[in-house]
Amino acid sequence: MSDLWKLGDDIADTAAPDGPVETRWERRQFSAKLVNPANRRKLTVIVVGTGLAGGSAAATLAEAGYRVRSYCYQDSPRRAHSIAAQGGINAAKNYRNDGDSVYRLFYDTVKGGDFRARESNVYRLAQVSVNIIDQCVAQGVPFAREYGGLLDNRSFGGTQVSRTFYARGQTGQQLLLGAYQAMERQIAAGAIEMHARHEMLELIVVDGRARGIVVRDLVTGEITCDFADAVVLASGGYGNVFFLSTNAKGCNVTASWRAHRKGALFANPCYTQIHPTCIPESGTHQSKLTLMSESLRNDGRVWVPQRADDKRAPGDIPEDERDYYLERIYPSFGNLVPRDIASRAAKNVCDEGRGVGPGGLGVYLDFADAIARLGRPAVAAKYGNLFEMYQRITGEDPYEVPMRIYPAVHYTMGGLWVDYDLQSTVPGLFVIGEANFSDHGANRLGASALMQGLADGYFVLPNTISNYLASGPFEPLSADHEAVVAARTAVEDRLSRLLAVDGDRTVDSFHRELGHIMWEYCGMERTEEGLTKAIGLIRGLRDEFWSRVKVPGTGEQLNQNLEKAGRVADFFELAELMCIDALHRRESAGGHFRAESQADDGEALRHDDEFGYVAAWEHGETPTLHKENLEFEYVHPSTRSYK
Ligand SMILES: Cc1cc2nc3c(=O)[nH]c(=O)nc-3n(C[C@H](O)[C@H](O)[C@H](O)COP(=O)(O)OP(=O)(O)OC[C@H]3O[C@@H](n4cnc5c(N)ncnc54)[C@H](O)[C@@H]3O)c2cc1C
Repeated sequence: MSDLWKLGDDIADTAAPDGPVETRWERRQFSAKLVNPANRRKLTVIVVGTGLAGGSAAATLAEAGYRVRSYCYQDSPRRAHSIAAQGGINAAKNYRNDGDSVYRLFYDTVKGGDFRARESNVYRLAQVSVNIIDQCVAQGVPFAREYGGLLDNRSFGGTQVSRTFYARGQTGQQLLLGAYQAMERQIAAGAIEMHARHEMLELIVVDGRARGIVVRDLVTGEITCDFADAVVLASGGYGNVFFLSTNAKGCNVTASWRAHRKGALFANPCYTQIHPTCIPESGTHQSKLTLMSESLRNDGRVWVPQRADDKRAPGDIPEDERDYYLERIYPSFGNLVPRDIASRAAKNVCDEGRGVGPGGLGVYLDFADAIARLGRPAVAAKYGNLFEMYQRITGEDPYEVPMRIYPAVHYTMGGLWVDYDLQSTVPGLFVIGEANFSDHGANRLGASALMQGLADGYFVLPNTISNYLASGPFEPLSADHEAVVAARTAVEDRLSRLLAVDGDRTVDSFHRELGHIMWEYCGMERTEEGLTKAIGLIRGLRDEFWSRVKVPGTGEQLNQNLEKAGRVADFFELAELMCIDALHRRESAGGHFRAESQADDGEALRHDDEFGYVAAWEHGETPTLHKENLEFEYVHPSTRSYK
């Protein structure tokens, strides 16, 4: 403990059934209360977010007969960030007959997460994965097929089987179109009321239950309140706290953070995924980074020159003067080691002065062998759109010269704490998709986010939320209820405060500086000294933000500066909690690498006895830590090796 945080009581996931892991989900479904179809019409659910998690949940709940009101800040539900997902979605179908199974997907995910995820959740995820593919195929999602007509698969990091289903390099887009069409059908049927360009700015909690949200119409600035029997947050991840990330620019933490301030615990905020294959930063003008899908590591070989400061063009460096370092250090998994491992290895070779490109912050991802082996048309068929994207951004042709890549912030494993039912610590508030912390532990395996978002939305939540809704409908609420007035006033006051500062620094300049602090001290490598320093810097910058930020315009109009200012204000608070979480976890696990805790060979060193728990934080002047102890009955914690 320190003066930065307090220790509270342990918590437990009381919704999780025990007994054999294979039947836990079936037993939970059977024990959960049901709502009969005629009563579902009397129950309303608000779903914030229309990405793969929110879109699939809204469509499924409406199809089941509930009244759904859906919110997103984009101008259309199908512009949610999920549309950017490139490489694929995992499922244990074993179409390749290469030894895959539900158990193996479960095993890979628990191990890949560095033994910091719940076994019950992960097993369910692996079970449900097979249903997702059937559901999406039935919707017409055009997954790639192999010559026999079966759906094709490729490999992703951290596995030795091929279980990733894909639609070229646009899998997220195609899956989201499927979910969106399912939603549209319900919108047309009047079962979903869609509110695009509305941002949730507060959660309404009445008598301890989540009963609604306060939203701002982003076009007119109008503030309204909406009430329901339950609220589902599917508002995505918070990687943009780092300013530069592969996430869409709009991704933010506000919906989750507002819920956190209203009592929802925030779990493992420091677990950030740094993706190894992104296009390196090219200058200070940049506002985001671009991912090059992990699927490229199926055929691309990662290397750097053997010698430091070797400035020769890649084609001039002979084979025996190259270091295919992933293949050398991790012969079993080679270029397909998990992301945390590949990112750290890239950082290490760059730290040794062997990085390539401007500033030495890059490594090569080379397709020469694949092109020679498979031919250019075959490589283009698999990765054509990614190659084109790379060429447009860098001006270099990856068919001719190797890609240059470098790690970048990509995904957040942390999020609001939920139990097995995906319910947060605020009754009636459910959290799904990247917004919750649930299934990936300290490191998410590639192609598992789409799997989790759709598992939550199509299959898990629609079953578990009924257990809660069976006690509804709850008391009708009116706009003059004390809790509603307080929530609405808080939103109005906050917006007025942001506008009133009228300082001399842009929101972006604060966000960029915050991101820099986070990347420097809470990024790929963290130390006690760095994190302590970061907390001081964040606090100082936050005070400056509230006295110097300039938000032009008014609140009664389309005002993107005001939107951004609110999000950055929340990022400041989140950033501090991330650093506190990273500081308290004096071990390395997955995406959280503490320099003080490494093995002799430089790999991450966990301390299971001391830190084998989920860190769930309660909001307060000084945050309070609640530990959820993790137990492993099936996949026993071991040193994670990909060698
Ligand atoms: C470039 C890129 C490529 C990726 N590729 C893959 C891949 O190949 N495979 C894989 O498994 N994963 C991939 N991922 C990760 C994956 O795309 C995401 O984790 C996943 O799509 C998140 O889905 P979601 O539904 O939880 O959230 P999102 O898709 O982020 O949706 C969030 C929704 O919430 C809404 N929202 C947020 N806040 C508010 C608010 N305050 N008020 C109202 N609405 C709000 C937004 O409008 C949006 O509709 C990739 C990620 C990136 C960045």
